[in-house]
Amino acid sequence: MTALLRVLLLLLLPAFSQAAPLSLVAGDAPLLPGPFMQVWQDPQGQADIHTVRQLPDSAWQDVARRDPSFGYTGYTYWLRVTLHNPSDQPIDWVLLIGNPLLDYLDAYGLDGERVYRAGDQRPFDERWVQHRQLVLPLSLAGGEQRELILRMQTNGSANLSASLMSAQAFNHHEQRMLMLQGLFFGALLVMLIYNLSIFIITRDRNYLWYSLFVASFSFYQFIQQGFALQWFWPNSLAWHQLSFPFSSALATLFGILFTYGILDLKSQHRAYTWVTRALLGSSLLVIALALSAPYRVALLGSFYLLIICAAVGCIITALRWRAGYPQAKLFALGWSSLIIASLFSVLTGTGLIANSLLTLHAQQIGCLLELVIFSIALGARIRQTQSDHHLAQARLFAKEHQLRMEQAKSLDLQQEINEGLEARVQERTASLQQALEKLSEANQRLAELSRHDSLTGLFNRQVLNEELERMLAQAKRSQQPIAVLMMDLDYFKQVNDEYGHLVGDACLQHAAQRMQQRMRSNDLLARFGGEEFVAMLCDTDQPGAYDLAEQLREDLAKHPCQHQGLNITLSLSIGVCALIPDALSNREQLLRQADQALYQAKAAGRNRVACYEANTRVGA
Ligand code: GH3
Ligand code: MG
Ligand code: MG
Repeated sequence: MTALLRVLLLLLLPAFSQAAPLSLVAGDAPLLPGPFMQVWQDPQGQADIHTVRQLPDSAWQDVARRDPSFGYTGYTYWLRVTLHNPSDQPIDWVLLIGNPLLDYLDAYGLDGERVYRAGDQRPFDERWVQHRQLVLPLSLAGGEQRELILRMQTNGSANLSASLMSAQAFNHHEQRMLMLQGLFFGALLVMLIYNLSIFIITRDRNYLWYSLFVASFSFYQFIQQGFALQWFWPNSLAWHQLSFPFSSALATLFGILFTYGILDLKSQHRAYTWVTRALLGSSLLVIALALSAPYRVALLGSFYLLIICAAVGCIITALRWRAGYPQAKLFALGWSSLIIASLFSVLTGTGLIANSLLTLHAQQIGCLLELVIFSIALGARIRQTQSDHHLAQARLFAKEHQLRMEQAKSLDLQQEINEGLEARVQERTASLQQALEKLSEANQRLAELSRHDSLTGLFNRQVLNEELERMLAQAKRSQQPIAVLMMDLDYFKQVNDEYGHLVGDACLQHAAQRMQQRMRSNDLLARFGGEEFVAMLCDTDQPGAYDLAEQLREDLAKHPCQHQGLNITLSLSIGVCALIPDALSNREQLLRQADQALYQAKAAGRNRVACYEANTRVGA
C-alpha cells in the first residue's frame, strides 16, 4: 500500500532537480535515478568518455524529471549520476534500463575501466546479463561513492525507463514481471487460438481480422518488451530495428479491418468506406516504409498512423453509438482502454510521464482489457446475427404460412368454381340430352309420319315403292311368287258429293281399317292415292291373291261405314297381278299390270276382282 502511494506521489508531485549523490538504500519500491541525474546533449554525437569527463559542470543540466526521457530526437545524450552506499557493508545493486529498444547504451564506472556496451543495435550476446531489458550490475563497497556515466543514442524514443534496485529486489521483481508477462502473452495466445477457431468454424471474416489483429498486436508487444530480440532474432539487428514500426502498422491495418466489420460500416454511409480505405492505404504505406525507408521515418509514420486511427476510430465509434448500433458501446469501451493504454505508452515515450510500475502495468492491463472487450463485442455481434437470423426465419415462416393459407383458399375457391361449373355442365348436358331425346323422338315421329299417310295411317306411296322394290328383289332371289292388289272405291266421287268431303274422309279411314284387318304380318297395305289402295303380298300366287282380294271386297261390302248416324255402303274394285319374277320384272310392270286388271274390274261393272293374267275373273 505504501509502495503504491509512493509511486502515485512520484507521478503527481512536480519534478525536482538534485545533482546530489543518490543513496542506495533498499526500500519497498525501486529508486528512480532521474532527479539525481544530469544530462549533456552531444551535438555531433562524436564525443568520447574522456571529453565528457573533462566537461565543465556548467555544461551539465539537471534532468529534472522522474525519468530521463527526451522523446524522438535522435540526439546522443550523456547522463551522469553519483551513487552512494551509505552503509558500511558492500552492496550489489542493479540499474535496470526498462526500454529495451534503445539502439545504443554505454555505461562507464560500473566495473573499474570495463565499459558496458549494449542496446538493440548490438548483438544480444554482448550483454553482461542475458536479459530482455538492459541490466547493469553495480557493486559498491561500504561507504563508497561512485560516478556513473551513461551514453544513450537511439533513433527511437530516447527514454531510459531507469530504475535502481538491489540485486535481491531485482530478482524478486523479475520473478513477478515474468509471471505477469507470461500471463499477458498467455492471455493473448488463448484469445488468438479461440478467435481463430471461431473463424474456422463460422467463416465470419471479422474473427479472422480480429485474430490477425491479436497476433500482430502480440508480436508488437513481444518486440516492445524485448523478448523478440532475446528469443527470436538475437543477431538480426537490422530486421529487429524495422520490426517495431512494421508490427505496429500491421496491427493497425488489422485493427482497421476489424473495426470496419464489427461496426458494420459497409452497410452505412459510403463515407465510412472511403475513410476506411484511406486508413488502410496509409497502413500499407507505413508497412512499405518500414521495409524500405529509414527507421526514423517509418517509426514516426507508424506513430502518426496510430494517433490518426485512434482519433478516427473514436469519432466513428461515437457516430455509430449515436446511431443506436448496439455493439458500438462495447467497442467504445474497448477503444477507450486501448487509447488510454496508448496514451500512457506515448506519454511515457516522450518523457511526459515517468516510466513506472504503474505505467508499465497500466499499459498492458489496458491492452488486455481492450482485447477482452473486443472479444465480447464479437460475441455480442454473433448473438445479434443469430437473433437477426431467427427473426428473419420467423418472418419467413410466417410469410410461408400466409402463402400456404392463400394457396389453400384459392384452391378451395377453384374447387368451388369447378364444382359449380361441373353442376352447370351436368345440368346443361342433361337438358341437352333431354332436348336431343325429344328431337330424336320428334325425328322418329317425323320419319314415321313421312312413311305414313296422315288420313288413313297406312303406309304412303313412297314406302310402297321402296318395299315393293325390296320384295321384288327378294322374290327374284327366292323365286317365290309375289302379288299386287290394286284397289279402288267405286263411285266415291258420289259419296263426296252426297255427304261431303269429311264424311268421305271417314269412309276412306273405314275402308283402310277394314282392309288392314285382313292383312298378314308380311303383307303391306298402302294408300296409293285418292281412294286407291295397293296391297303387296309376299310368297303369294295368283289364286291366293285372288282369294284375299275377294275377302277384302266382300268384307267391305258387308260392313258399311257408320259415321255420324250415317250408314254408307262402300264397294271395292280390285285388280290382281301375281307372278314369279324374272330378271326383267320390275315395280312399274307389277303396278301397271295390277292397274290394268283394276281397269278391267271397273269395266266389268265394279265391285269385283279381276286378275291380270288373261281374263278378269268376276267374283260372286
Ligand atoms: P269410279 O267408280 O270410276 O272409281 O268412280 P269414282 O267416283 O270413285 O272415281 P273418280 O276418279 O271419278 O272420283 C274419285 C273421287 O274420289 C274424286 C274425289 O273427290 C274423291 N277423293 C279422292 N281423294 C279423296 C280424299 O282424300 N277424300 C275425299 N273425301 N274424297 C277423295
Ligand atoms: Mg279412282
Ligand atoms: Mg273410284
